[in-house]
Amino acid sequence: MSSDNNRLQLPLTSDLIINGEEGKATGGQVFNRENPADTRQVATVAAQGSVEDVRAAIDAARDAFDQNVENWIYNYKLREQVLFRTAQLIRENADRLSRVVSLEVGMPMRQAVPHVAAAADIFEFYAGLAGKLYGESFTLPNGSMINLVKEPIGVVGMITPWNFPLTQTARKVAPALAVGCTVVVKPASYTPAASYELVKLMHQTAIPAGVLNLVSGPGSVIGAEIVTSSKVDKISFTGETLTGKGIAAQAAKEVKRISLELGGKAPYVVFDDADVDAASRAAIFGMFRNAGQACGATTRLLVQEGIHDRFLSAVVDLARKIEVGDPSQQSTDMGPLISSTQERVVQEYIKFGQDAFELVTGGNKLHGDVYDHGYYVEPTIFDHVDNSSKLSQEEIFGPVVAVTTFQDEEEAIHLANDTDFGLVAGVWSADYPRAMRVARRIRAGTVWIWDNYAQPVEGIWGGYKQSGIGRELGYHGLDDFIEIKQIFTDGTGLAMKPPYGQVIKD
Ligand code: NAD
Repeated sequence: MSSDNNRLQLPLTSDLIINGEEGKATGGQVFNRENPADTRQVATVAAQGSVEDVRAAIDAARDAFDQNVENWIYNYKLREQVLFRTAQLIRENADRLSRVVSLEVGMPMRQAVPHVAAAADIFEFYAGLAGKLYGESFTLPNGSMINLVKEPIGVVGMITPWNFPLTQTARKVAPALAVGCTVVVKPASYTPAASYELVKLMHQTAIPAGVLNLVSGPGSVIGAEIVTSSKVDKISFTGETLTGKGIAAQAAKEVKRISLELGGKAPYVVFDDADVDAASRAAIFGMFRNAGQACGATTRLLVQEGIHDRFLSAVVDLARKIEVGDPSQQSTDMGPLISSTQERVVQEYIKFGQDAFELVTGGNKLHGDVYDHGYYVEPTIFDHVDNSSKLSQEEIFGPVVAVTTFQDEEEAIHLANDTDFGLVAGVWSADYPRAMRVARRIRAGTVWIWDNYAQPVEGIWGGYKQSGIGRELGYHGLDDFIEIKQIFTDGTGLAMKPPYGQVIKD
């Protein structure tokens, strides 16, 4: 297989951006990100930031906020302009950005292109909200006035994952800047260049120095410093539930604000009156997009008994047609996994599934040609899976799906909710009142009816239970970056106001 990566000059370089300046790490340390589709290639040489570097970035963000650099906190027109221009720049550079994402993540180009377009949409959406942060006002009977004003929460540390690097960063950066926060971004080490290229583009806008900083490097060093720094007001984290728990425990020591976008184990409930053609296509999209490395991936197919055979055969037919290969090729439907570690983890789950349940399709690591140099695993489906098994309870983060049969609506709801996670779910039934009843009772942040993995920026994204705290996207996506302040103004003009009599005898 030939690769289209030669359109990019490899290896990519990814540096730090601190206080408006691009630079290398103190001491010149770097780390290599391999190309997961062909590990003979280095995709990116990235600056490995030090504690000193991240402290400098935090100081820059702190100073920019505390000094209200270029009136950043109040000049919503400037913020609007920065965000609109960012959306334009992303679109102007969409081809390159898509290739960078595809290269570092191993994401097929047919997915990387809409991924980049979605990032531009997010910036545009929040640009439109920057000038619409109305507060509330209330007048008491005595004429005193309560003003509730929305203020930026301050310096936000953003710690992001690798699986959808641009939109994950955009969902945090765009609303935080829209409300006037300042930011330090710590990208995942598998995808340093994707975030770097975005933050670099943003420095072509009128963004003031210090407002947006980026430091790559290990989570245990750079991430940990951001989480523990008393100069950071808020942590916005997306990643594994386990990492999120550690961050929450650490943040609690200072009552630091947190929002967490964590793991998932999405159920997809198919009733026996479902449109098999539509429901199976939607299922496949949710199951194997980005090789199943998605927090909202469809990982548990809950299928009513009467439709089990027909539905499973439709899904398996589609799964077998998925072309696994070089993500830079237009024909590729599914690329490699992100790393050797992830490949090993996925294979362990497959081995467990083979021993315990019925393997219906897939199950193999692919060999030959480019497959020998990347982390390629087949789309894999297991049937008759016990929902309490680890195949149905643990986040695998790969192209592995568990099918479980149910009898009736109550059992479907029970199985769907029988998980520690609560990020997303899907419901398919021709009976809309039933679909709506089930959607209302599934404890998840998003439930799709007659669709799967739709994520419009106008909606929301976030989890119930151990899938997280807070909501991204949409108007509610601003809330994570806002403090509400009350400004109370006396309207009586009295020097001796009635309550003062509780303390003063006049
Ligand atoms: P991860 O938890 O390993 O890493 C996420 C980020 O945290 C990285 O930047 C990493 O360097 C950093 N980090 C690691 N240890 C840290 C520490 N001790 N202190 C501070 N930062 C630290 O997750 P990942 O493998 O990059 O991403 C995959 C996970 O993300 C999956 O569990 C997936 O479900 C989840 N995810 C959730 C959403 C959502 O919206 N809910 C979206 C995408 C991914």
